[in-house]
Amino acid sequence: MAKKQFKAESKRLLEMMINSIYSQREVFLRELISNASDAIDKIYYKALTDEALSFDQDSYYIKVSADKENRTLTITDTGIGMTKEELENNLGIIAKSGSLAFKNENELKDGHDIIGQFGVGFYAAFMVADVVTVTSKALGSDEAYKWESQGADGYTIVPQEKASVGTEIMLKIKENTEDESYDEFLEEYRLKAIIKKYSDFIRYPIKMDVTGQRPKEGSENELEDYQEEQTINSMVPIWRKNKNELTAEDYEKFYTEKHYGFDKPIKHIHISVDGTIRYNAILYIPEKMPYDYYSKEYEKGLELYSNGVLIMNKCADLLPDYFSFVKGMVDSEDLSLNISREMLQHDRQLKLIAKNINKKIKNELQSLLKNEREKYEEFYKSFGRQLKYGIYSDFGSNKDVLQDLLMFSSSKEKKLVTLDEYVSRMPEDQKYIYYASGESIERIEKLPQTEIVSEKGYEMLYFTEDIDEFAIKMIMTYKEKEFKSVSSGDLGIDVDGNQNDTEAEQNENKELFDHMKNILSDKVKDVRVSKRLKTHPVCLSTDGEVTIEMEKILSAMPDNQNVKADKILEINVNHEVFQSLQDAFEKDKDKLNLYTNLLYNQALLIEGLPIIDPVEFTNDICKVMV
Ligand code: ADP
Repeated sequence: MAKKQFKAESKRLLEMMINSIYSQREVFLRELISNASDAIDKIYYKALTDEALSFDQDSYYIKVSADKENRTLTITDTGIGMTKEELENNLGIIAKSGSLAFKNENELKDGHDIIGQFGVGFYAAFMVADVVTVTSKALGSDEAYKWESQGADGYTIVPQEKASVGTEIMLKIKENTEDESYDEFLEEYRLKAIIKKYSDFIRYPIKMDVTGQRPKEGSENELEDYQEEQTINSMVPIWRKNKNELTAEDYEKFYTEKHYGFDKPIKHIHISVDGTIRYNAILYIPEKMPYDYYSKEYEKGLELYSNGVLIMNKCADLLPDYFSFVKGMVDSEDLSLNISREMLQHDRQLKLIAKNINKKIKNELQSLLKNEREKYEEFYKSFGRQLKYGIYSDFGSNKDVLQDLLMFSSSKEKKLVTLDEYVSRMPEDQKYIYYASGESIERIEKLPQTEIVSEKGYEMLYFTEDIDEFAIKMIMTYKEKEFKSVSSGDLGIDVDGNQNDTEAEQNENKELFDHMKNILSDKVKDVRVSKRLKTHPVCLSTDGEVTIEMEKILSAMPDNQNVKADKILEINVNHEVFQSLQDAFEKDKDKLNLYTNLLYNQALLIEGLPIIDPVEFTNDICKVMV
């Protein structure tokens, strides 16, 4: 009998299957079971409208049977079956399902990705079998046919006896090779596990003859094996159940079963949408950060199901980066089982789902913040940084979604406040949202720059994370209030209207300040009379966009671009030290030199910036002491 040839694309796909890598092979069973389920769907719906076909519920099932001796695995279904033409057309041509329109050879080489992530349909059988035999009897047909293929070199179709309508797919499981074992696909426990993993939620029973042990009759301690038909899948997925029927424990159990995390989720979100796009989703906001969260290994994404069949483990397109901590799954009837990653990215339905999910997560976090503050703070400790990254990235385009989810410690209460809380309790005369940056709250509270803001009674946000100031730069204004670093040149605070005094002092001491500036040369942009210092003799402030905290962070980065803040050395003219400066300027320029460098280095130390020459600094102190 002449063999019929596969179409070119089918042949390529077959080759890909035959050479698949080990870890992906198990999905063949998922593919065959979901085809079987689809076939039962078809007859099921026909039966709903056709009285002549009144089957009872029990007549719809899928059966998986392994025969170790003959190395065969058989998947039988009571579905709609295939005619001779259908066998020929459906199994001989892959392009028809449109699932894998390979663009080029490279994509084919990358194909293992496609196998792992997506359905590849019936041909997946060739990952584990040398010979695939499909015997099928179509609904309404008297004849049955047998389709058989050994892979890429073609297939045969011959008439075959078959009593009932439906399809039986027999796989002749490959022999083990030196480094690859196929035996596992004949092992009861392994098959059960694969079915549980991928097909648990198929809505028809998947049956297997399972071996059990029981006491032998008439004997007290002898056991005997017996076979029993069991349904392996649980059939009703939790996400299709009514929310009212489910308890918090059910959701937690699902979280654990699915290995979404080892923690207890802080919140679950159960979504059932039945509009232009239909989908169910169960999402979780974890409590603890996974250990690899901020590493390259961490992959964001949700499990994606097409009508109860898992098609992708981590669909990244469903989650924006700033919500990359969210775990869970989405099931939609409107997605094709065999959609490729390439197509998925452009899929309109998927985009709609993603948008929808994004909104739900945001709302959930907002209501958590509003109604369950403690829980939210717990969450924020783990993932607040990610939200700030979200604001910083994409040029701040997501700030509207995220800014109300931010929290910072503040000078007023030693706890976290939101921007809204801050702004709503600002005194009327306060122009800016003030913040102070430093590596810890203790350190920030000692900064001389905070003195005047504190004295005014204005609240300050404390920025202790690298990302804080960068994120705020993206927000720019919140409720029309600008953010202002306490170290910035102009704080917008009038100190008892002494603006003119300051200017007069500055002019009076112009020569002294110019001289000091020369001593420090390019280390500072200017030396000025301070408007903010109360008790401290000196501090550094900055002019322009880059603050000292930002300079520290940027210079610690691997691709250090040597970005520097424009520093101003501010002098407290009401401090006794200023008198010494003036005296030295009059009488002893060497001394002025010494004092200037000392004060500058002190200012660096207060800011937590490194002193360029610590030895010189300590020698200078000794000089003063002697
Ligand atoms: P897809 O399922 O994406 O269409 P497959 O290669 O898995 O791609 O299957 C091709 C076609 O073969 C199916 O669309 C279906 O019409 C038919 N088919 C496969 N398995 C069965 C089955 N068990 N019963 C009836 N028809 C089947």
